[in-house]
Amino acid sequence: MAEQTDRLPQNVAGAYYVDSSCVDCDLCRNTAPDFFRRDEEIGLSFVYRQPVTSEERALAEEAKQGCPTESIGNDGLLGKAPSAPLAQNAGSSTGGGAQKC
Ligand code: SF4
Repeated sequence: MAEQTDRLPQNVAGAYYVDSSCVDCDLCRNTAPDFFRRDEEIGLSFVYRQPVTSEERALAEEAKQGCPTESIGNDGLLGKAPSAPLAQNAGSSTGGGAQKC
C-alpha cells in the first residue's frame, strides 16, 4: 500500500500520487498516460495531472489497482463534496399545533 509519507515530490497536488516504492515497470504510464509520467532523473513514475471526470478517475484507479508494488495512492482529497448545510429548524408555528412546555 502506498504511503503518503513516501509520496514523491514530483507528484502534482491532489488525491493520486506515486510513492518511492515504484519500480518503474511502466504499467501505469501505459494504462493512464494522461496522468502518469516517468521522471527521467529519478527513474520513477509520478502523477503529473490529476483525474477530474469520473472516466478519468476510473482510469487512474485502474492504474492504481494494476500497480504490482502498490506504489500508487489515493488519499481521497479530490472530489469531496462540501459538507451539507444543517437542516433548518422546522418548528414553525402554523397554528393548531401543540406547544412545548
Ligand atoms: S505501475 Fe507502479 S511500479 Fe509500475 S511504474 Fe507505475 S507506479 Fe511504478
